[in-house]
Amino acid sequence: MACGTICVHGVSKRFGSVQAVDGADLCVERGELVALLGPSGCGKTTLLRLIAGFEHLDAGEVRLEEIPFAGHGVWVPPERRRVGMVFQDYALFPHLTVRENVGFGVPRRERASRVTEALGLVGLDGLGARYPHELSGGQQQRVALARALAPKPTLVLLDEPWSNIDPLLRSAMRDDLAAILRGIGVTVVLVTHDREEAFSIADRIAVMCAGRVVQEGSPEQLYLAPGDRWVAEFVGAGNFLPGRLDGDLVDTLLGRFPVTNRNGADDVEVLIRPELIELRPDPGGRAEVVAREFRGHDVFYRVRLGDGTTLVSQRPSNEVVPLGSRVTVRPHPSRVAVFS
Ligand code: ATP
Repeated sequence: MACGTICVHGVSKRFGSVQAVDGADLCVERGELVALLGPSGCGKTTLLRLIAGFEHLDAGEVRLEEIPFAGHGVWVPPERRRVGMVFQDYALFPHLTVRENVGFGVPRRERASRVTEALGLVGLDGLGARYPHELSGGQQQRVALARALAPKPTLVLLDEPWSNIDPLLRSAMRDDLAAILRGIGVTVVLVTHDREEAFSIADRIAVMCAGRVVQEGSPEQLYLAPGDRWVAEFVGAGNFLPGRLDGDLVDTLLGRFPVTNRNGADDVEVLIRPELIELRPDPGGRAEVVAREFRGHDVFYRVRLGDGTTLVSQRPSNEVVPLGSRVTVRPHPSRVAVFS
C-alpha cells in the first residue's frame, strides 16, 4: 500500500484483556504535522509507541518511507527506525548534563556537532553544562526535543508535549515548538486529548476512538464536516436538530440550511455549531435564556424555544443578554453537517 512518510495499516495491539489499538490506519505525508486526537484511553500513546517500535504489534503493518518496519514477520528495532520521540515526562537522564542528554544515541564521531546544532535549533545554546533539575519545565522540554532531533530523524513523535506545562505558558510554547519543527521540515505526529491544541497546531488531525482512527482531516474539515455525531461532539459543542433533506438543503425548526455533506437518508440529524446561533433581545421573543456561562472572550447561552427544544449559543462577550431574557433566535445561514 503506497502512502507517505508513515503508513500505519490495520495495526492492532492488545494488553491482556484490553484491546488498546484495534485495526488503526494512519497515513502521514512528509513534512506534515499530524495530531492524534482522542479521549483518554483510546490508544493514542500505544499507537505512537507501535510506530516508534517500543511495542510489538499483534496485527497490521507499519511502514516508514515505504520501508516495512513492523508486521508480516518484519521487525526493525527502534534505534534503527530514524524516529525521535519526546515522552510526556521528557524522560531526561537526571545524572547527565544537557549536552550529554542530547548526545545520547548519537554516534561519537558526530556527537559534538550534532549536539551543538540541536541545542541551537531549540534555542538552548549556552545551557549545555546544566543538569535537568537546573532547568524550567519548558527548557527541559526543549532538551527532550533536542535529544529527539540530534540523530536527524525522519519522523518526530511527541506524546502530550504540553501536559506538564503551566496552562498560561502553553500557547506560547506551542507556537515556539511548532515553529522549530516546521523550520526544519521534519514530519511530526503528536498525541493530544486537547482539541484546541490539535486545532491550533496541526496541519491534519486524526481522531481516535476505541483503538481506531475514525476520521482524518484538516482542523476545519473536522469541525465543520465531522463524519459522525461522536466526532462532532468530541471536537466542539453543537446543537443536534432533526432535519429533512431537500436536495442540497436541509429543513429544520430553525429554517433551511445548505449542507456540507449528502447523506443516504432523507431524515437526518443536523449539526448547528453554537456560534451560528445569534440571539436578539426581544421582549416578545418566543425563546428564553435559561442558562449563561461567561467565559471571558465569549459567552455560552442555553436558550429554550417555545416547543421546549434547548439550544446552545455562543456569542462575543460584548453582546450581553441577561439570564431570563426573552430573545429571538437568528441562525446564521452557513453550511451545516448532517448525519443519518
Ligand atoms: P491517555 O490520553 O490517557 O494517555 P491514550 O489514548 O494514550 O490515553 P493508551 O495509553 O494508548 O491510551 O492506552 C490504551 C489502553 O491500553 C488503556 O486502556 C490502557 O490502560 C491500556 N494500556 C496501555 N499500555 C498498557 C500496558 N503496557 N499494559 C496494559 N495495558 C495498557
